[in-house]
Amino acid sequence: MAFVPGIHILTYERILQTKTWMAGISSAKTRFALLPGHNDEIDDVMSLPSEVEVAIIGAGAAGLGAARALENSGLSVLVLEARDRVGGRGHTIMAAPDITFDLGCGWLHSADKNSFVEIAKQLNFEVNKALPPWRERAFGNAFPQGERDDFIHSLDEFYDRAEKAAEEAHKNGCDLAASTVLEPGNRWNPMIDAISTYVNGAELDTVSILDMDAYEDTNINWRVRRGYGALMAAYGAPCPLAFNCEVTLIDHSGKRVRIETSQGTLTANKVIVTVPTDLIADEALRFHPALPTKLDAARGLPLGLADKVMLRLDDPEALPKEGNLRGATMRTAMGTYHLRPFGQPCIEGFFGGRFARELEDAGDGALAAASIDEIVSFLGSDYRRKLKPLSESRWAHDPFARGSYSRALPGHAGDRAELATPVDGRLFFAGEATSPNFFSTAHGARDSGERAAGEVLKALARIDR
Ligand SMILES: Cc1cc2nc3c(=O)[nH]c(=O)nc-3n(C[C@H](O)[C@H](O)[C@H](O)COP(=O)(O)OP(=O)(O)OC[C@H]3O[C@@H](n4cnc5c(N)ncnc54)[C@H](O)[C@@H]3O)c2cc1C
Repeated sequence: MAFVPGIHILTYERILQTKTWMAGISSAKTRFALLPGHNDEIDDVMSLPSEVEVAIIGAGAAGLGAARALENSGLSVLVLEARDRVGGRGHTIMAAPDITFDLGCGWLHSADKNSFVEIAKQLNFEVNKALPPWRERAFGNAFPQGERDDFIHSLDEFYDRAEKAAEEAHKNGCDLAASTVLEPGNRWNPMIDAISTYVNGAELDTVSILDMDAYEDTNINWRVRRGYGALMAAYGAPCPLAFNCEVTLIDHSGKRVRIETSQGTLTANKVIVTVPTDLIADEALRFHPALPTKLDAARGLPLGLADKVMLRLDDPEALPKEGNLRGATMRTAMGTYHLRPFGQPCIEGFFGGRFARELEDAGDGALAAASIDEIVSFLGSDYRRKLKPLSESRWAHDPFARGSYSRALPGHAGDRAELATPVDGRLFFAGEATSPNFFSTAHGARDSGERAAGEVLKALARIDR
């Protein structure tokens, strides 16, 4: 990656250290981070360069994946990021001095095929391989083992029917909503739907069966002890970044692509767009000339919603480490609770779909209040005193996410390939929603960025010939 002329360089760690005083600096300026080993001094904040060869929109896993893949290309590259941090939907915070909390992605899903596992190794991030809590680690009497076994049996049968229905749908070219393969009258249907709200961020009636079938789950799920968001931040540390730089228009009508941002305008030869689908669908980021096929594809892949809450737990030893708590509630509007993740003194709650949206809409603290009520109903009223809200996510209300992860609406499984297709050899598209088999995940997003960077290099090689 070449230095962009006129840009001052900061390492990401240095930016984090200096966040307090940087916060006071005029928002009309931009902060930049670049290669480690460069002088760490902060001289000043600089304005945007007038041109770069490759502009990458968004510094989430996809944008960072693209930037890292262009690292030794000799091209001038700049990642334009609307927030004041990298990671996007990957964000680790210390909810308390002794409690690490991933507000977004937390699990290295399909870990045996997950490119972040190798990255974690290279960056000395400890990978935790303990079994996830959602199947084998039930705690308490709220969901007795016999009931749980019956539920898991029904869930597995549902997935088997879904696989068969997807085969049929491939054959006859007719996609269906995943809800159509629920067994009529099965008492577990509402809870199977609840699982969909966790996995897809949405109820089964809005999920394409072909899309659901395309997801590649190897059932190996690991974690990063210091946080997935922290891993992403370390991975992104060498990238050239412009923070607080919201892109509003990509004008590809002229010879070079003109990019309007909240920090001014620049031009680029190639642009990689990685923003979440809802921002394209709602035209928060516009294209000129308009790209109706991209808009349609993004609208077919809306973000579902998943939210998390972190509660401090007094008297933690009374509960098992890494346990799972949920009730046989026979309803879809329910949380699922991870007891003492990494042995920490806390409970992490997880909500999805319409219920998560309702709770977000109810305002700050609603997720925590609902969690405490539900946990008290399972474990007893002592827990009202033992639990203290620390932090909760609000991804639907986050202007630069507008949700959690994409699923294809019924009839729209093909939109992922449509969204990923480059335009005129100059505009390239990445982000979790463009991943064919690992959509909705962080590693799927990262790999898609690498794929888009490869397309840029190919397009440039063609011009050189
Ligand atoms: C609660 C929750 C739990 C999750 N759990 C997991 C999990 O366990 N495992 C897993 O693999 N995945 C999980 N995910 C999904 C995973 O976090 C995402 O799929 C992945 O991080 C998306 O990366 P991305 O680069 O495609 O998009 P993003 O991370 O959204 O990055 C896009 C970037 O673009 C920026 N941006 C937006 N608009 C503009 C603009 N106009 N101009 C400039 N910049 C802009 C955003 O600020 C953002 O930084 C979870 C997500 C959530 C919310």
